[in-house]
Parts: sequence; structure tokens; C-alpha cells
Amino acid sequence: MQKKIFKNMCLLALVAVVLSSLLIALVYYASFDNRMKNEVREETQFVRNAVELSGEEYLQTVAGTPNRITLIDGDGTVLYDNQAEAASMENHGDREEVREALTGGAGEATRMSGTLSEQTFYYAVKLQNGQVLRVAAETDSVFAALLSILPWIIGVALVAALVTVIFSRFLTKNIVAPINSLDLDHPSENTAYDELAPLLSKIHRQNEVIAQQIRSLREKQEEFTSITENMSEGFLVLDHNTDILSYNTSALRLLGVEDAPADTHTSALALNRSAGFRSAVDGALSGTRSEQLLRQNGRCCQVMANPVWRDGEVEGAVVVILDITEQEERENLRREFTANVSHELKTPLTSISGFAEIIQNGIVKPEDIPRFAGNIYVESQRLITLVDDILNLSRLDEADVQLEREQFDLTALARDVAGRLKPAAKKNGVVITVIGDKAEINGVKSIVDEMIYNLCENAVKYNRKNGRVTLTVSQEPAGTALTVTDTGIGIPKADVDRVFERFYRVDKSHSKEIGGTGLGLSIVKHGAAFHNAKVSLNSTEGEGTTVRLVFPA
Ligand code: ADP
Repeated sequence: MQKKIFKNMCLLALVAVVLSSLLIALVYYASFDNRMKNEVREETQFVRNAVELSGEEYLQTVAGTPNRITLIDGDGTVLYDNQAEAASMENHGDREEVREALTGGAGEATRMSGTLSEQTFYYAVKLQNGQVLRVAAETDSVFAALLSILPWIIGVALVAALVTVIFSRFLTKNIVAPINSLDLDHPSENTAYDELAPLLSKIHRQNEVIAQQIRSLREKQEEFTSITENMSEGFLVLDHNTDILSYNTSALRLLGVEDAPADTHTSALALNRSAGFRSAVDGALSGTRSEQLLRQNGRCCQVMANPVWRDGEVEGAVVVILDITEQEERENLRREFTANVSHELKTPLTSISGFAEIIQNGIVKPEDIPRFAGNIYVESQRLITLVDDILNLSRLDEADVQLEREQFDLTALARDVAGRLKPAAKKNGVVITVIGDKAEINGVKSIVDEMIYNLCENAVKYNRKNGRVTLTVSQEPAGTALTVTDTGIGIPKADVDRVFERFYRVDKSHSKEIGGTGLGLSIVKHGAAFHNAKVSLNSTEGEGTTVRLVFPA
């Protein structure tokens, strides 16, 4: 812009100088020409008067004058010329000025001489005797006049150009400087040129629109990031070259990546080199939805890759990664549980069926039948207990089952359970004591009853002769605690962590013998989880066991 203004200024100055020089020259020339013509006219009138008075002889006196004086007869014959031999001159009757003088009394004409540089002005008047007196003066032509001042014009133009260059550089800088220093971030604060006001207010409006668009884009980006970052599922968006366009932290964690990629445009395949991941990504980029399982670092992830289409072409892929470790473990547990349940149910049923078959075949002596019937009864009782436990457990497993919660006194419930177990305890001479004041908790009473019953029953079952079982209810900062302590056989250290597993029994035959199902502590664990209660177990082999439940306040 600066260059353009500068160039235009120079050009303008140059044109102005040339035109004004030409104009001055023309005006000057016109005035000179006019003066010269007037002089010629005056001289002609003067000579005419003299000739009219003194006769033709007067012309001899003006022979030496610089202007050419010619006397022409009415038929055009040259009678006298002060600069040439009249006789040798051709007839002047057709000359414009002569013709005009003969018809109108006076005439004039300007004719170029041989070269363009000179011209001659002729003025002719008719004398009383019919002759024509003509005076001619030679002057430079306009062209010659202009040519003569050309060096001056060039000189002045050069000086003007120099001055223009200096001034226009200075002026251009002055004009452009305020424009260059415009603060386009705050256009309304600029006061440089009034003419720029509409432009600046337009920029101001544009700035506001852009700022608004950036704000809303940023908000959308933040919203998207906070959604994806709060997802426990991994999320990757890839282009058709497998380069990452977007990802969340969970994706890196699930793919086992420790350092985030330096920039998003790295290949997703560099994040995880497993064949499964590659096959899922390749599948999606070739246009088919792919699912693969990734097993690494003891965890199992499901990778689901979907193609992204645009105009019938696969443009990229969206990969979602789910950590299904827990789900798989639960599935395994369920399978294991089903197998265990079948096994546990089959054992007493096989016994019952065996005893019944022997009795049916008449092999058993009549006096042995009560014993066999007793065995059948015991096995049936075991089956009933087992089925009850399984039903209780599955009731707890059904998370969406709505069980009615209520406020009840934990100490009163503990006393009730202890009362029910007293006959069984008495058989082994075990004494059950309940300590504690009224302590209300909120929960499902039947489940808490079942939990206390199982703990108390274990404390009785795995006790020694004349042992003790103490149930203590106390208020603690963390909530209401119930502790079941026994003086029984205790649990070996190696088994302490496993006794809450389904069907886990430290001594299988002993447990079976005393009617255990291996599900009691599992029910306690699930019941505690249902009530958000904490359960802990401390045991010393040969000394006894303490199980503690803390229900949150
Ligand atoms: P069970 O029906 O066999 O008692 P549980 O799940 O209640 O099953 O207990 C699992 C195992 O933990 C029992 O088989 C037993 O070996 C051990 N156990 C549980 N409670 C006690 C306790 N109070 N004293 C000693 N061992 C116990």
C-alpha cells in the first residue's frame, strides 16, 4: 500500500509538472503570438497610410526592415517586395490573405515554412487604388516554441520529481503510520482517520462474532473433553491412516500406555502392538464393525471398533474400549457357582437316592430301616439348608430387587438370634452372651438376621466343648458395630482370606459333618455389602475367631 501511494504521488506530481509547464508555455506563446500579430497589423496600417500619402516610393525607405513588405497588384502580380526580386515572384492572387484583402479590405493567414519549426504570419490590406499591401513576420511555430522550452520542462520535472520523491516518501509514511499502528483487537479505541470508522466498526463486530464463536467452540470442546475424560471406557477417534485424532485418558490406561502420545497425529497402532487391537482397527478401517478381546496385565478389555463413513468412503474409525475384567470374573464365578451348586446338590441327593433304593430292594434289615431313614432325613435337611442358603444368596445378588428397609434395634435382633441358637449351643455346652444397649440401625431386618445367625451359628459350630460365644453391640464413630467372638478352633492363617468365598470350607468333611454348606460367610459378605457395612475377620488357630460388622451411621 505504501509503495502504491508513493508511486501514485510521484506520478501525479510528474503529470502535474509536465502539464503545467506545457500550459504555461502555451499561454506564453499565445500572448507572444498575439502581440506579434498586433505589431504586424499596426505596421501594415502604418505603411499603408504612408504609401497612400507618399506613393509607392515610400516603400524604398522600408527596404531594410526585418519584416517582409510586399505590394501586390489587384490581379495578384507582385509589384514590390523588400526581400526579393518582385519580377521573379509568382502571382499572389490565390494567397488567402490577399484574397480576403481584395474582397473584404483586410485579410490575414499563418503558414508554416518549409520546416515545422518556423511559421509566417501575413497581414494584407487593400489600398485605395485596388492594390494590396502585405506585411509578413516570421516567428517560431508552437512546436518550435515548445521544443525550445523542453529542456526547461525536463529540468523542472526532474527537480519536481526529486522534491516529490522526498515529500511523498515522508507523506506516505505519515499517512500509513496510523494505519499500521491500528489496534485491531480494540478497533473502537482507534481515532486515526474518520474515514476508517465504518471499517473499524465492522472489524469490531467481526471480532465480537469471532470471539463468540471461539467461546462456544471452546465450551463444546471442554464439554466433550469432560464427558470423555469422565468415561471409564476408553475412547479413540482415528483417521483412515490409523492416526489418532482424539482420545481420552481411559483409552491410554486400558491399552497399557504409560506416556501420552506427544501429539495426536501418531498412529494408534503404536499405542498397543497386540494382534487383537490391530485386527479391530484394520477391520473398522476396511468398513466392518470389529470386536476383539485384549488380555494384558491381568485385565481383560473388549475393543469395539466402528467405521466412520463419509460419502460412501471410510474416513476413520471410532474405537471404544471396555474393561470387562470384573464382568468376566463374575461370569467365571457364576459358572463356578453353578458347578458347585450342582455338585453340592448332587451329593445329598445321591445319598438319599442310594438309601431309598436299598430300602426299596428289601436289602435292609427291618431293624436298620430307622437308621437309614434317619440318614435320608439328615441328607434332606442338608438339602433344605443348602437350597435356603442359595436362595438367600441369589436374593442378595439381585441388585434391583426392592427390599424394604426399616429402623430396628440391632441388640434386640442379636438377642433374638442368640435365643434361637441356644438349644444347638447347649448340646456342646457352649454359652452365648449378648452385650450391648439399644442400637438402632436402618436396613433390611431379614438380611441382618440371616447375617447374625450365620456368624453366631459358625461361632457355635466351630467351638470347643463348653466354649463361649459373645455378641457385642456398640456405638462407634464409624457406626454401629456388632462383634461375634468365640473361643473355638479358629481358622488357619492361610484360609482367613478365603473363607468368604462361596462353598469354601477349611475342613470340608468336618464342615459337612456339622451341616455346613460353605455359603454362610458368603451371605454375610453380600449382606454387609448390601448395607454398606464393613466386615472384618480375625482368627487365631486353636484360640478362637472374631468377626466384626460395622453398619455406617
Ligand atoms: P459353613 O457353612 O461351612 O460354615 P461358612 O461360609 O459359614 O460355611 O464358613 C466357611 C468356612 O469358614 C467354614 O467351613 C469353616 O471352616 C470356617 N469358619 C467359619 N466361621 C468359623 C469360626 N467361627 N471358627 C472357625 N472356623 C470358621
